[in-house]
Amino acid sequence: MPIHYLIAVTGTPLPALTYQSDETLSPGVRVLVPIGTRVQVGLVLGLAEQTEASTYQIKAIIRVLDLQPVWTQSELALLDWCARYYHAPWGRVLETALPPKLRQSKPTKRPLKALTTPPLGTAQLVELNSEQAHCLTAIAASLGQFTAWLLQGVTGSGKTEVYAALIAQVLQKQQQALLLVPEIGLTGQMVARLTQRLGTTPVLLHSELTDNQRAQVWQLTQQGSPLLLIGTRSAIFAPLPNLGIIIVDEEHDNAYKQQDSIRYHARDIALMRAKYQHCPVVLGSATPSLETLANVAAGKYQQLALTQRANTQSLPSIQTIDMRQQALAGALSPQLIKAIAQTLDDGEQVLLFLNRRGYAPVLMCHDCGYTVDCPACEVPYTFHRHAPNLRCHHCGKVEHAPKACPHCGAQNWHLVGQGTQKVEETLSMHFPHTPVLRIDRDSSQGKDKLPQLLEQVRSGAARLILGTQMLAKGHDFAGIALVGIIDVDAALFARDFRALEKLAQLVVQVSGRTGRGDKAGRVLLQTHQPQHPFVQSLLKQSYSEIAQDLLKERAETHLPPFGHSAWLLAEGKDLHKVQQQLEQLTQQVTTAEIDIAGPMPAIMHKRQGYYRELLWLQAEKRNVLHSVIHQLQTALAQPNGLLSGVRVFLDIDPQDMP
Ligand code: ADP
Ligand code: ZN
Repeated sequence: MPIHYLIAVTGTPLPALTYQSDETLSPGVRVLVPIGTRVQVGLVLGLAEQTEASTYQIKAIIRVLDLQPVWTQSELALLDWCARYYHAPWGRVLETALPPKLRQSKPTKRPLKALTTPPLGTAQLVELNSEQAHCLTAIAASLGQFTAWLLQGVTGSGKTEVYAALIAQVLQKQQQALLLVPEIGLTGQMVARLTQRLGTTPVLLHSELTDNQRAQVWQLTQQGSPLLLIGTRSAIFAPLPNLGIIIVDEEHDNAYKQQDSIRYHARDIALMRAKYQHCPVVLGSATPSLETLANVAAGKYQQLALTQRANTQSLPSIQTIDMRQQALAGALSPQLIKAIAQTLDDGEQVLLFLNRRGYAPVLMCHDCGYTVDCPACEVPYTFHRHAPNLRCHHCGKVEHAPKACPHCGAQNWHLVGQGTQKVEETLSMHFPHTPVLRIDRDSSQGKDKLPQLLEQVRSGAARLILGTQMLAKGHDFAGIALVGIIDVDAALFARDFRALEKLAQLVVQVSGRTGRGDKAGRVLLQTHQPQHPFVQSLLKQSYSEIAQDLLKERAETHLPPFGHSAWLLAEGKDLHKVQQQLEQLTQQVTTAEIDIAGPMPAIMHKRQGYYRELLWLQAEKRNVLHSVIHQLQTALAQPNGLLSGVRVFLDIDPQDMP
């Protein structure tokens, strides 16, 4: 008699379905199944209830694809948690978790060449200082069981050396270690250092790998042999049957949050994964997220601190430059220009930070005030130095700048605001003998381009460096004596309730790039709001103190991490319908235990021709939020529940307002 199996099917927005087979199949094995008129890859989740006289015909599994399960039972349990927590059907969870090659129903022409496990050599660790040694002892004592750790170490305190020592112990126990990093382009230095310390080559998993390479890495890690896997966000789904530790470096980084499809947070999944696989998870950061600090306060995470820089250099001092009534050279004040000149004269490096790429954020007619907007998004195009000059930073549309104003015909354009390209120009004017190294998304495109740019900073070849937040992330640059933050004012007035938290993280992280060598560093912060209380706290308080104040405010205003939130976004070409969709949904909600705001316009109210409206949901109890979302999704799944021409997206624990 055939056995009934519960199968998750890729390429479908469906929950798990029942299929039958005569073979005995282990959970976690991939199979081919018929669905509709197609054949898709499915994943065996387990046995389905064996119904005798079935009212519908149960289809047969066509073929078994794996000899060995892709994931173990506890890894499958984690994916099941993802499906429930993010309210996503199993089919979509697989779409997110499985690499493309493993989802293909057509067999690969040539079998993939198997990677061999990098051999384990002898670790050559540095001698840890007493703070580091304390952290190591504490975390190492928790190997083999679930414990969540926050390793809060100031910039340059040597967190990476603690990671290395922990990973060495895990490898020695013949187990696997997972190290998550925000962006692979920024981790070359870390990989090199870990390779050297551990005496083995880490295995890398990130978006720059080809589909084949990714599948090969999966085949390797699935074997369970001891290794260190370093990867970006999606590596949290890699099979690691022998997992001994998870480390999430720069845990506050937004790159861990997926911004489309299933909007999962790799850090949050890391916590659950450690729970399911009985190992410690270490969240490392100089500037932990308020979510993580709240979990420490609630006693869920254990906190460890590294308060000293490994080179015993003190943290850089931050000073403001009052921009009011200054004669500005572009975006730069005379004081900043003077400080740059001095630092360059001393033979040291300068790092300037501006979080706006392009030349200028607005192209405006000087005669009539007309701005050139992206027609699909109804926001100004960003002007770029190279043609086509107009680029929409929201939808990516590019266009040639008009010669004459389409409104009044004048040929008198005015560029409003400053992006990195404009500041680069200003710098070149003031420092004609010092080349400017610009590092932003535009200048770092292309394979290996970013590592090359970073190497110029590290080697000291580049003296005058200008960049966006890419520069804020975890780099260990030895020679930077001056950091200039060109503009903090926009963040002070942003609508996003996380803006100040992010600003504090950014300022501390960017500042942390200086004073890493043998000299103390200096940070200058340009603002028109030198008396603003938050600017004052940036100068006078530590990140921890600032974070505690922000937490108090969040508690008073009942915003995350206090309470639990989600948003639902409806998109469509017909604004009225979009609003109607959300209104219909709010009428479904009967409990008073949840606050629902909206429908309200999303921050990007129109994008690529679609209007976007938002419901913000906030509840004190997590289960209330989740049951309301379940209710709303059930309503959407009814016939006529979803209005035609409208799409609805969900974000649980959102990090950004859409
Ligand atoms: P973080 O990740 O906390 O910013 P890093 O791990 O990059 O700090 O350490 C900063 C620098 O100090 C690195 O060059 C590192 O090799 C060095 N360092 C850290 N700990 C030690 C130690 N115990 N002995 C010698 N050098 C150390
Ligand atoms: Zn656009």
